[in-house]
This record gives sequence, structure tokens and C-alpha cells, in this order.
Amino acid sequence: MSTKNINPFLDTKSVIKAFSFRNKTFFEKVAKYPKIKYLEQISQRPDEFKQMNLYPQGKDNIFTLRIDADEVHADDFKEYIEIFRDYSPWITLFCSARAFEKNKKLLEETKEANIDIQSHGYYHYVYNDYESNLFNLSKAKYFFEELKIITSGFAAPMGKYNNNLMLALEELGYKYSSDFSFDYLNFPHYPYLGKRFSKILQVPIFPICPEILFAAGLSIDEVIAYFNEVVKNLTIMNIPIIIYAHTNKTYPQVKIFLKEFLERIKDDSVLHKCNMTDFSSWCFSVEDASFSSQYGLLVPEASAALRQPQEDLLGAEVTENFTKKIKSFIKEMIDYEDVTPLEELRGNLFRKGLKSLYRRYKIKRQ
Ligand SMILES: [Zn+2]
Repeated sequence: MSTKNINPFLDTKSVIKAFSFRNKTFFEKVAKYPKIKYLEQISQRPDEFKQMNLYPQGKDNIFTLRIDADEVHADDFKEYIEIFRDYSPWITLFCSARAFEKNKKLLEETKEANIDIQSHGYYHYVYNDYESNLFNLSKAKYFFEELKIITSGFAAPMGKYNNNLMLALEELGYKYSSDFSFDYLNFPHYPYLGKRFSKILQVPIFPICPEILFAAGLSIDEVIAYFNEVVKNLTIMNIPIIIYAHTNKTYPQVKIFLKEFLERIKDDSVLHKCNMTDFSSWCFSVEDASFSSQYGLLVPEASAALRQPQEDLLGAEVTENFTKKIKSFIKEMIDYEDVTPLEELRGNLFRKGLKSLYRRYKIKRQ
């Protein structure tokens, strides 16, 4: 692997991109370099393209639903559990542990409905430094363990990614993580950490969730049409179909969408439906260890079988205005967030001080 070739793999910048459907435009912060565009650079494709049998049980593709539970409102959340109950083998619920601190019973109910529960951190944030990530992840891990829930997968709050997150996940024995600021629209692979590949398998997902579409003014029918289109296109491109949504009280339309969409997926016989943890286990079971240690990709077939998505799916980078750029630069530099209590902040003292000053400044301006 030459330095020239690995740049898109080492450069893990994320940027705002515009996506569109039927004259409506919507935005998400995603990886600047979706790795699928550079697969040819890092591994040799076979001379002749042939249809590879890439997915379990000879199916054309897989389908998985990732649900992020950032906040919990008991009655609303129970309605979600009822919807998920019928499709539980295909769903992984990534829970922000703090949100369940006063709602532990809901996790019991989720478990009883046979829904896979994994970690979305304790505080809903991915920090820049290793110590803070380790603290946040272990606090979540032990919270779940006390409820007899053993987690092996993680989904990054707000899709954020950095190497320190991977190192903290490795330290705690996690197996996979899903962060669309690192990569999206791709087969799972291992991130390159500079000198070696991480032990954490990255499971890319489709980065547009229904809430973004509802916020952009799409109707329920349009959102269903959009995701039907996405499923069709990802099947053609051999890219795993992993869709995500939130249990978000602000958008009650999500429940109606999910009911209809999941019912349609149920009838799709060319898809192998499984949850994200099962899909990751299957990936490990087919992994070609000598190939993955060299290229970070699981199997040569994956880079040969995948096709390039069109721009409406990949998104187009948009330029942020200068003031916004400066603001996000400062926020990034001091790793600004206001969800962690000051006494629980870890890492660099200087940055901690800056963060606390900036928090006070923001409160004063409110
Ligand atoms: Zn989240």
C-alpha cells in the first residue's frame, strides 16, 4: 500500500454534503472521502468482473435496520417497541445509556421483545481524546452489564469518528462500530490507524435517516418512495442495505413510515434480513485473514462486486460560509459539547478549562 493510495483511507475528515430526491435537497455531515470511490486503488480487482455471491444464504443482499435511541419518552418508546416486535430479528437498537437511567424497565421490555441492544455511549457524544471516550464507553458498558446486556457493537453519536474512539473501543473489547463520518455506502472494513488496521470492524450505513427527510418537507409517501429507491439501487450496487432511524418524539411520522417500509421489506425474498450484530458475526466468519490484514477489507470479492453509487446517493460537498467555518473550527478545537458534567470530563486540563469557559459564555448569551 503506497502513501499516495492510502490518503482517502487516512484522511477521515467529515463534511456537509447535499443529497436530493424529487427536487428536494437535504444535508448530512458525512465522510469527505467515501471509501468505495477508492477501492480500486487499494486492492486489485479480478480481471473480469463476475457476479460474486457475496451475501449469506445465496441472497442478493442483506437488510438491517439500525435504530438510535438518543432520548427516551416512555410512552412514545413503548410504541416503537410494539412496531419493532414483529421485525425484531432484523433490528439493532443502539441506546444512549444516560437516557435509560430512569427508564431501565424499557430496556427489559426491549430485551423481552428479542431486539438486539448495543451501545450508543453513555453521554450522547464522541470526544476527540482517548480518555474521555474510554470513560464514556466504559460507563455505558457497565450500565448495560448491570442489566445483563452484553454489548459488542457501538454506533457513534452524530456519526462522529476519530482514531481515539477506535482505540477506546478496542480497549473495551468491542467488535464493531458504525460511524458514517468515517465511511458510508460500503461493505464493512477495518479503518487504518496509521501503522496498522484497527481491530474494530466499521459497518457503513446509508447516512440519510427519515427524520432528515421529514425535516426537509417530504411527505410520508415521498419518504417511502425514497427508501424504496435506495433499496433498489443498493441491491443493484451490491452495497449492504443498512438503514437507520431514531426513536424521536419530534417526528411521529417515523413510526408510520417504519411500519409500512418494514412490511414491504418482509416480502422482499432476495434480501437476507438480520440485525447488525449478526451481520458483523457473519462478516468475521467469511473474513480472509491474510487479505484483511493487508488491505483492511474482509474479502477480495467485496471490492470486486461493489459498484459505484451515483451522486444523489453519495451526496455533493457544500461549502460552508466563513462564520460557520470558524465556529465549527473552534468547537472542534475545544471539543465543545454540553452533555458531560464538568466533574466527569477527562483528558487535557487546558481543553477542559476552555470548554467550561465556552459553556459559561453560551449560558450568558441565552
Ligand atoms: Zn444518536
